[in-house]
Amino acid sequence: MTVIALNPDSPASHAVGVDYDQTLADHPEWRGGQVYGQPLPGAIAALRTLLDKRAVFVFTARHPRTHHDVARWLEHHVGCRTSVDTDPDRAYWLERHHLLVTNKKLGAALYVDDRSLTFTGDWDTALAEALRRIGEPPDPSALGTAAPALTIRQPWLAAILAGDKRVENRSWPTKHRGLVVLHAARALARDGQADPLVRAALARPGAPALTTGAIVATASITDCHRDTGCCRPWGLPGLWHWTIEEVHALADPIPAAGRLGLWRLDPGQHALLHRHRATARTALADL
Ligand SMILES: [Mg+2]
Repeated sequence: MTVIALNPDSPASHAVGVDYDQTLADHPEWRGGQVYGQPLPGAIAALRTLLDKRAVFVFTARHPRTHHDVARWLEHHVGCRTSVDTDPDRAYWLERHHLLVTNKKLGAALYVDDRSLTFTGDWDTALAEALRRIGEPPDPSALGTAAPALTIRQPWLAAILAGDKRVENRSWPTKHRGLVVLHAARALARDGQADPLVRAALARPGAPALTTGAIVATASITDCHRDTGCCRPWGLPGLWHWTIEEVHALADPIPAAGRLGLWRLDPGQHALLHRHRATARTALADL
């Protein structure tokens, strides 16, 4: 993905937009938009500096009927000419030393805003940060760089991909929650090959292949608890149960050597996995 570079010849790259509430004006309470408060420390000096360099507009989500009050506030504190935007077709603001109050997102070199998230061309990073800021859990289908990998022997992993097995049994607990990359070990598990539940899962039409020595899926670890006789029939006694959900199979496994514990992909494997993500999402619909 490419982020369009600023072009100094374009009017869209000329101006600077500055948000009003909580960026210029500080007010501890809203009271139906009747409170304008005082300038935030440094706000007026910064605005004056920007006005010396570029055309500046102040954008606000406040109702247009309040824009004259915002303009008066600015005129009072900044002391420069200030207008309210009344042109429905306006796309740019190019006048120097003249503040415009608008509720449109006019073309600009940048926006100064207390609520913004800077997009840098990487939606994985942007989405993760957006979800964090709005207080939502991470999207388990997004491949963050921090996602650890877990090596599981076949055919246990195939039983997970088949949708039957939702508990991974381990002798050790994990604190990790969220995205995990599932890797199929090169060696097969004899106990799994003999397990009637696994046999039943893999006997169905369209059962997953017994791929080995490769990254085969992404999933989400949603819980980890000590066995209390729970999670039967897949959860085993005396072990830690890792709850595995939201399994996304890769259409094309990525060859990789497995490791013990939770391990990190190297940059090459990580890049390949990113490239496979679209395919992984398609495959999810087939599961
Ligand atoms: Mg604001």
